[in-house]
Amino acid sequence: MTPTVALTIAGSDSGAGAGIQADLKTFAALGCYGTSVLTAVTAQNTVEVRDVFALPPTVVGLQLAAVLDDFQVAAVKVGMVASGEIAATITARARAGELPNLVVDPVLTASSGRRLGIASAIERLLPYATVITPNQSEASALLGWQVSTPTDMAGAASQLAAHGAKCVVVTGGEGVGEDAVDAMWTSKGVRMLKAPRVDTRNTHGTGCTYSAAITARLALGYPLEDSIDFAKRYVRAALIAAQGWRLGSGVGPLNH
Ligand code: PLP
Repeated sequence: MTPTVALTIAGSDSGAGAGIQADLKTFAALGCYGTSVLTAVTAQNTVEVRDVFALPPTVVGLQLAAVLDDFQVAAVKVGMVASGEIAATITARARAGELPNLVVDPVLTASSGRRLGIASAIERLLPYATVITPNQSEASALLGWQVSTPTDMAGAASQLAAHGAKCVVVTGGEGVGEDAVDAMWTSKGVRMLKAPRVDTRNTHGTGCTYSAAITARLALGYPLEDSIDFAKRYVRAALIAAQGWRLGSGVGPLNH
């Protein structure tokens, strides 16, 4: 029996709340065998990102080749991309059709403020994406205007779709209000996704987990919109399961 294989191309979070570690936990919880290509190593805990070390693009390329040469990868997620050269390495594989069901989470800045990814680098990948999942800040940075209200989010999702992705989900977890509202653009139009907001301080890695859950469900063969609806419910459940956790003294991780 061969398990379904998913791949994450992302940065390491030593505190294991976000990045590669969140992705692998999500893949495992959802029944996928997770493989990983590291793009960067961060020295990070629940309080802060202390340092960021981008890996040389050749090292990213070697990891990608090792995984793709041996595994039948069913879906791929890209998170932190810390340089244009790393983006070019990934894009070459995407262009060759080797990165199926590509989910791009345009990671730019940690909630603590530290820069992680480069907007111009991640933009190169957007044309190859099945789904892109920017949060409000990431959508604002990519578009050059402030995305705040649900109406803004719907407009931002449509504008970002011009880069060529089949689907855009602008996530609104950072916002305020009773519901966490996301705007999902597909060729059919924009649909707002709502779920009651979870009252918790433990939200570190929410975006990584959302995009990894979409990737896992796509890998397993579920339709696109179903995969996104499922991922939103999965993130909510992982937030609720971590509500009582006291891990570290900052923003704690989700419980998968
Ligand atoms: N560190 C890494 C390696 C990440 O990929 C991400 C993902 O967005 C973060 C940190 C940021 O996580 P958060 O926004 O929850 O602080």
